[in-house]
Amino acid sequence: MVKQNNIAIIGTGFSAATLKYFLKSEADFFEKSRGIGGRSSTRKVEGIGSFDHGLQYISTNHEEFSTFLGSNENSIWDGKFIINFNKNKSLDSKKRIIHSEGNNKLIKKIFEKSNIFFQKELREIKRNKDTWNLIFKDDTEANYKTVLITVPFQQALNLTKSFTSDFYSKFNFQMDPNLTVMVAFNKSLGLDYASYTYKDDPELGFAANENTKKPYLLNNKLELWTIQSSVKFAKKYIQNYRENKNLLTEQIVKAFLKSVKINYETNTIIHQDIHGWLYAYGKQLSAPNSFWNEDLKLGICGDYFSGFKAEHAFLSAKHLCLQVQKTLL
Ligand SMILES: Cc1cc2nc3c(=O)[nH]c(=O)nc-3n(C[C@H](O)[C@H](O)[C@H](O)COP(=O)(O)OP(=O)(O)OC[C@H]3O[C@@H](n4cnc5c(N)ncnc54)[C@H](O)[C@@H]3O)c2cc1C
Repeated sequence: MVKQNNIAIIGTGFSAATLKYFLKSEADFFEKSRGIGGRSSTRKVEGIGSFDHGLQYISTNHEEFSTFLGSNENSIWDGKFIINFNKNKSLDSKKRIIHSEGNNKLIKKIFEKSNIFFQKELREIKRNKDTWNLIFKDDTEANYKTVLITVPFQQALNLTKSFTSDFYSKFNFQMDPNLTVMVAFNKSLGLDYASYTYKDDPELGFAANENTKKPYLLNNKLELWTIQSSVKFAKKYIQNYRENKNLLTEQIVKAFLKSVKINYETNTIIHQDIHGWLYAYGKQLSAPNSFWNEDLKLGICGDYFSGFKAEHAFLSAKHLCLQVQKTLL
């Protein structure tokens, strides 16, 4: 696959969906995984159901972002939500936008009729006169005039450092990890809340009852929970989590059940797994909203430019798009 094209976009998460939404030109998308969504990700387990093991929900007051979300087939997560469960707990009533078939579909419609190459992990980019030579992990190559990169910070820096290290060195971009447990119990735990948020807990960050999000997809005899670790816990264990999956999963599930005063021994677990996100969330910081080099025709955007949520990815990609549009059209 060696072709000379106009715009290549790397990734198919929220940032890439936003580029697609605002860009007035055609583009080709290259995605390392098998589907769209990026960190807005859903794990389907045969006979069990599905877990939103990345982004949980979107809450926004931003009008343009709401319109963007509304152009998909999203719904509202119904239930009672408790925050700071371990410290000064209170109910939280903000509107939570989800997709009832799984949050990987939150941006699905935007990508309809897009030219997407899946399982194409970009390994290297090289500058050839006035084009970019993209080299993929499977050793295929493609040439484009403009490249827009939407991958998390450390990966974007690795791919582009000969062109961007001066830029990146000016800002303290950083992304924290998360360990996310997916567990199915053989019966309902009988809990009151659809989700629990923890503050400064050594082990727990957040827990969601998946049955309250997407009842139609589930084996309704089971109850599915997605439990995110605290950042502190993830930082300690992320590097070697694959070798300690069972121990870490058990530790998180036990901590969650203890927090809701349920005895671990009296519940049967039908399925459990753990996913490690090396780059889960960014930090809120003050930086430009995106990177654009007009001469090189290289653009970079992502949530980490200004925060850690899908809304930040949207704002960053929109900012990049405006700059690209000014110079390309
Ligand atoms: C556990 C967890 C919980 C979260 N909870 C929330 C929440 O409740 N609400 C909220 O708003 N946000 C939440 N977030 C953050 C939210 O998921 C992100 O802000 C948003 O998804 C970022 O979108 P993006 O497109 O910028 O990046 P990504 O979604 O990371 O997209 C980048 C894409 O690039 C692909 N890619 C990476 N490297 C390459 C390569 N070399 N070649 C080709 N493709 C590549 C990836 O596979 C991915 O599809 C959460 C994140 C995590 C991990």
